[in-house]
Amino acid sequence: MGTRRVFVAYTGGTVGMQRTERGYAPAPGQLAALLRELPQFQAPEMPALTLHEFDPLLDSANMTPGDWERIGRVLLEHEADHDGFLILHGTDTMAYTASALSFALEGLQKPVILTGSQIPLCETRSDALENLVTSLLLIERYGHRLAEVCICFGGRLLRGNRATKIDSEGFDAIDSPNHPWLGTIGIDFELEWPLLRAPMEDAPPLRVRPLGEVSIGACRLYPGMRAEALAAFLGGVQGCVLECYGAGNAPHRNEAFMETLRAACTAGTVVVAVPQPLRGSADLALYATGRALVDAGVVSGFDMTPEAALTKLTYLFACTDDPTEVRRLVQEDLRGELTRPALTS
Ligand code: ASP
Repeated sequence: MGTRRVFVAYTGGTVGMQRTERGYAPAPGQLAALLRELPQFQAPEMPALTLHEFDPLLDSANMTPGDWERIGRVLLEHEADHDGFLILHGTDTMAYTASALSFALEGLQKPVILTGSQIPLCETRSDALENLVTSLLLIERYGHRLAEVCICFGGRLLRGNRATKIDSEGFDAIDSPNHPWLGTIGIDFELEWPLLRAPMEDAPPLRVRPLGEVSIGACRLYPGMRAEALAAFLGGVQGCVLECYGAGNAPHRNEAFMETLRAACTAGTVVVAVPQPLRGSADLALYATGRALVDAGVVSGFDMTPEAALTKLTYLFACTDDPTEVRRLVQEDLRGELTRPALTS
C-alpha cells in the first residue's frame, strides 16, 4: 500500500452504474465489489481507501444544494483520519458540485478530487479505470501539496470552480475553457504548480457552510425573451445568474425587460451577469447594453462559469442575508473562481 489514506465518497453517476431494462442506473454495492476485485486498486503504489457509498446513489441530474451540503458534511466527519478525498460523481452536474464544495469547504487544506466516467467501471471498455486510478495516484503522490477542489477527468486536472461539461459523448467530457488546466496527465503527471492552491500553515479547522436552504436561480438570455419570462425566473429567488450575450449584454431597448430587472434588484435580488460564451469575461462597461445592466443594479460575474456563479451566490447567501454584502463579495475572487480584469486608466 502507498503511504496515504484516501476517503472515497461514491455519490452515484455512470461510474458505478449497471445496465437495467430502463437504461443505466446506479447499483448499490457494485463499486465496492469492483474496488476489491480489480488488481489496479490493490497495487503497492495505491493509497489505502475508505469507501463511503451514499444512499440513495444519485444520477447527478438529481443533485440539489442539500446534497452538496451532505457531501461536505461527510468529508468533514472523515477529515481528521484521511489525507485526501475522492468524490465519485456523475458528469452531468459534476462542475456544480465541485464549485459548490470549493466555496462551502471553508479552510480546506487537503485535496478534494471529483471524477466519474462516461462508461461504467463494470464495462469491458470504460474510461472509469483510468480516471479513478489517476485521481488516486494524484492524491497519493502530490496530495500533501494540494489544497483545493479539483476535477480529474480525461487526463486533465481542472480547478473545480472553473470547470464545465463540454461533451456528452467524448472521454474529455469536462474542461475549463476559460482557465488553464492545473495539470496534464499523460505518461507523466505534469502539474502547473504556480496555479495550484497549496496548504497553508496554521490554518483554522475545516468548516462546512450549510447551503441547503438557499434559493438561487439562473436564466440564459435568448432573443425575444419577454419581461414576463424574466419575472418568472426572478420570482422567489434570493439571487440569479443572468447568462448574457457576448461580453455581458442584454436587450436594453426592451423597457419592460429592464424595468423588471431594476425592480428585482431594488427589492434585494442579487443579479450577476456572466458571459454565455465559453471564453471571456462580462465587461459591463464596454457597451451601452452592458451599462444599462449596471444602471438596473446588475453586478458583473467577470469570467465566472455559470456553475461557479450559481454556487457562489448560494454560498454567499448562506453566509449573509445582506444583498449589498453579497453584491460586493460575488465580485471578489474567493477561491480562484474569477479573474478581475486589470484596471485601465
Ligand atoms: N447522467 C449521469 C450523471 O450525471 C451521467 C454521468 O455520470 O456521466 O449522473
